[in-house]
Amino acid sequence: MTDAADWRDPLPAGFHWPDGVRAAACFTFDVDAESPILFEYPESAAWMDVMSHQAYGARTGIARLLRMLDRRGVRATFFIPGYSAERWPAICRSIRDAGHEIAHHGYLHEGAHGASAEVQDARIVRGLASLDEVLGVHPTGYRGPNWEMTFETPAILAHHGFAYDSGMMDADHPYLLATTEEPGGATIVELPGHWALDDWEPYNYLPGITGSGIISSPAEVLARWTLELEALVEEGGLFMLTNHPFVSGRASRAVALERLIERAQSIDGLWIATGAELAAHTATLGLEAVVHRRPIVPA
Ligand SMILES: [Zn+2]
Repeated sequence: MTDAADWRDPLPAGFHWPDGVRAAACFTFDVDAESPILFEYPESAAWMDVMSHQAYGARTGIARLLRMLDRRGVRATFFIPGYSAERWPAICRSIRDAGHEIAHHGYLHEGAHGASAEVQDARIVRGLASLDEVLGVHPTGYRGPNWEMTFETPAILAHHGFAYDSGMMDADHPYLLATTEEPGGATIVELPGHWALDDWEPYNYLPGITGSGIISSPAEVLARWTLELEALVEEGGLFMLTNHPFVSGRASRAVALERLIERAQSIDGLWIATGAELAAHTATLGLEAVVHRRPIVPA
């Protein structure tokens, strides 16, 4: 026996995909709309130009993406802040009625950094109430706004019955996430993502608010994401893509995304699944939970 780590197998111990599957892809959309800008810059409620930029998804992009997903026969996962559901109920109901998964993404897209467990809990409860009231949905998936988590967040999610989180960045495969450092506590499934598989960074630009003003070509983004998809298939991993309807609902970006989905559908043994489907599979594997230990900053 050795206490060294096993590095020869790319699959984590105990992990396997369903029969006939060698890797997975999950196409997700964060329906942020106005919420992140309003949370960071409450004064932006008076800025009609910025509000119109954020409303592009609800007014135009979501419908285009729903048509594209319908053409491809793909079910996606839409993470919807409660405020977005309240402000844009009709198009959010169309997402639900098209058969896509609805998941939780905060109420007003509040980042968790610096927030107490009590504050985070209240935001999650408020988001749940909105999704229930507007959509009649009780989501099983959660993604932290800005991907932000604290070491208290997983236990709050488990307390509210969430099956999975999607936002950690330390793995290529789904895993079982311990909600406390002590053994025997509750667990949830983690579906990891990454900034490089998020459309905000290459595409999004709001002067003075976000982005450098250098907006990537959809052809370049398609090439980058295709490389990552093909590489993760070889590793037997999960390709977790995060798009925003107000960003990737733009015409040529939606075309590039459709080409990526077509490429994914051409790969033998690649499972295109929703977050809930991936979490349900992972939960059956009897995996040992991964414990995230909060570091102590050395004096
Ligand atoms: Zn978001």
